[in-house]
Amino acid sequence: MNDLERQLHYPLGDALPESGRCITVAPGVKWIRMGLPFALNHINLWLLRDEQAGVQGWSIVDCCIHHDDAKAQWESIFTHELEGLPVLRVIVTHMHPDHIGLAHWLCQRWSGEDASAGAYACPLWISALDYHVAKFGCMGPTAFGGERAANFFAAHGLNDPEMVAQIRARINYFPSLVPSVPEQYHRMLDGQQVQVGAHTWHCISGYGHAPEHIALYCEGLGVLIGGDMMLPRISTNVSVYEQEPEANSLALFLNSIDKFKSLPASTLVLPSHGKPFTGMHTRIQQLHDHHRDRLAEVMEACSAKPCSAYDIIPVLFKRPMDLHQMTFAIGEAIAHLHALWFEGRLVRSLGQNRDAPGGGDGIYRFAASESAAVVAASSASPLPSPSPTT
Ligand SMILES: [Zn+2]
Repeated sequence: MNDLERQLHYPLGDALPESGRCITVAPGVKWIRMGLPFALNHINLWLLRDEQAGVQGWSIVDCCIHHDDAKAQWESIFTHELEGLPVLRVIVTHMHPDHIGLAHWLCQRWSGEDASAGAYACPLWISALDYHVAKFGCMGPTAFGGERAANFFAAHGLNDPEMVAQIRARINYFPSLVPSVPEQYHRMLDGQQVQVGAHTWHCISGYGHAPEHIALYCEGLGVLIGGDMMLPRISTNVSVYEQEPEANSLALFLNSIDKFKSLPASTLVLPSHGKPFTGMHTRIQQLHDHHRDRLAEVMEACSAKPCSAYDIIPVLFKRPMDLHQMTFAIGEAIAHLHALWFEGRLVRSLGQNRDAPGGGDGIYRFAASESAAVVAASSASPLPSPSPTT
């Protein structure tokens, strides 16, 4: 546990659910933990006691990736944890593979012949944006990644030919973890209330991590299902991707987590990774501080010389990384550069294409703007907290 984690409180201590079993964390709320074959090696999923049209059952929140081991763990959960009741609905916080990967299988598993007939007795609930992005991602091997991603990362300075080639070749990543999504969905929107059994859950949208992440807050239980928008230990990945190359993801993320400030300090946060915790307001401030410090480091580096996103990686990340982590890292580096660029503190330039007269390398670099240089020269005070606008 690091110093920042020690400022949070973990009401369940070190307890973790066993494989294929649950721990009850609030009345009618069960915690499932499944392994992931990534550096981030687990995900938390939730069961909510539900009732739909007089039928008693459960809602599942998040699904794990499409993987035989995850299916086997779900079957164990169905045998031991459902009290003989069916799953009535699958709620997905956002479209990342560890959250939506098995939604198609779970909805089919609990809809039976209804799903084959084109209707779902056990439907998927998700934001419209994340549904359609996931649907697009699993439609073909080249929807995400591949050539476009390789070109995008190269334009942001990735100059290792082997890594660029590996990114170019990685064309089936999303469909391998999310082979399909259900044909229909039920839309969740910011501010919407979702009745789950005896409890009302409020949808809270979040941006900067996924297209339209939905966290769920239940006032009656004092519980927030935070998804990936409120994690206790690691900071949420906030990236810029090739589909939206001029996104200001970090500003979107920091604005989004501020929406949780209006929730009570006693709220029990159920995160997708790590342990359930209280101390959300402290955590929100930690995340602001973390990104403020990273932005100050990026600003310092870009004041010394114009930097590409690839140049910034050793500033932001002090550890060796595999290809998967490197793609996240470049996306994060771009997000930090863009936050400063949108604030007018950095200016962006594109090295001329190397084939053009005068040469150049076709790489985006960011340098301190003149006004930022004046501020830096006249003041030794720390940088202000980012105050992003949407
Ligand atoms: Zn995610």
